[in-house]
Amino acid sequence: MQQVITALQNENIGQILPNEPLGPYTTWKIGGPADFLLIPTTKDQLVRTVKILYEHQVPWFKLGKGSNVLVTDKGYRGVVIKLGEGLETLQFEDHRVHVGAAYGMIKLAVMSGKQGLTGLEFAGGIPGTVGGAIYMNAGAHGSDMSSVLKSAEVLLNTGELVTLRVDELGFSYRHSKLHDDLKAIVTEAIFELSYGDRKEIAAAMATFKDRRLRTQPLQFAVAGSVFRNPEGNYAAKLIEEAGLKGYVIGGAEVSTLHANFIINSGRASAQDVLTLMDHVQACVFERFGIQLIPEVMVVGER
Ligand SMILES: Cc1cc2nc3c(=O)[nH]c(=O)nc-3n(C[C@H](O)[C@H](O)[C@H](O)COP(=O)(O)OP(=O)(O)OC[C@H]3O[C@@H](n4cnc5c(N)ncnc54)[C@H](O)[C@@H]3O)c2cc1C
Repeated sequence: MQQVITALQNENIGQILPNEPLGPYTTWKIGGPADFLLIPTTKDQLVRTVKILYEHQVPWFKLGKGSNVLVTDKGYRGVVIKLGEGLETLQFEDHRVHVGAAYGMIKLAVMSGKQGLTGLEFAGGIPGTVGGAIYMNAGAHGSDMSSVLKSAEVLLNTGELVTLRVDELGFSYRHSKLHDDLKAIVTEAIFELSYGDRKEIAAAMATFKDRRLRTQPLQFAVAGSVFRNPEGNYAAKLIEEAGLKGYVIGGAEVSTLHANFIINSGRASAQDVLTLMDHVQACVFERFGIQLIPEVMVVGER
């Protein structure tokens, strides 16, 4: 590993943080350290980083805002890459938006609305990056990324940059081709929006925000929905009907406001969350015969 780090240092690829705790980089505020956290500032630095990691066959994982990730207590053996400031670009071109993958989805929705562009109102409460949202095909209020994205530029694990059209990204419910066939990092995206009425856009976003504030425990450290909705059903409804609202293991608690959210009450370990997830799955299966599948990504050494 030291050989790789020396190569990265020689290439001046941005910040290299050894043994960096990952909890503060996630919304759950949980998790052990990465052997190295790399934060390349520019796209060029990112490309060089990935080429070096590929040459040395070092395992790596890419992190956005960590709003859909549970890092284990032991942390990640290898390199975690987080995109830096140079990938937070934003440019409007008529009804199209060119945006860097590190740009925040909430800010993107707000900025697009201010331009009088409609289509991204659904994303006004999704606290991830553009890259993480494309990877997850994040969505809400009846829409998702696949309905507004035109194309994405992705960096393959070999260090090659390619542009994929929306129909080449294999989107389905909270899933994209980036999960399985492609070990790739989204670097930029183009969204195709429509001109709309600024006041109507702002009103829709305010309604969605109000609904979230009433229905989600946003004052706590949480990730989003812990489990995917099973076809034709809602994970939150099943968990609630299994009597699990308020169920506690260590510092992790099933939210009493929204049963598909697990709260870190301030002292939860990743193991507390994992044990609680197992318990929820077992209870829901026993009661309804339905196997809940996690939406959050569990990362790191078990
Ligand atoms: C309060 C709250 C509310 C939420 N509401 C919603 C909601 O309504 N709808 C919804 O869909 N989600 C919701 N989420 C979950 C989360 O915000 C989304 O899944 C989001 O898209 C994750 O983005 P991120 O940047 O935080 O990615 P991370 O959590 O950091 O990573 C998630 C996955 O994306 C990958 N990834 C990250 N960046 C990139 C990149 N540049 N290129 C390729 N892959 C990448 C990671 O490797 C990881 O596998 C919510 C979360 C919270 C905390």
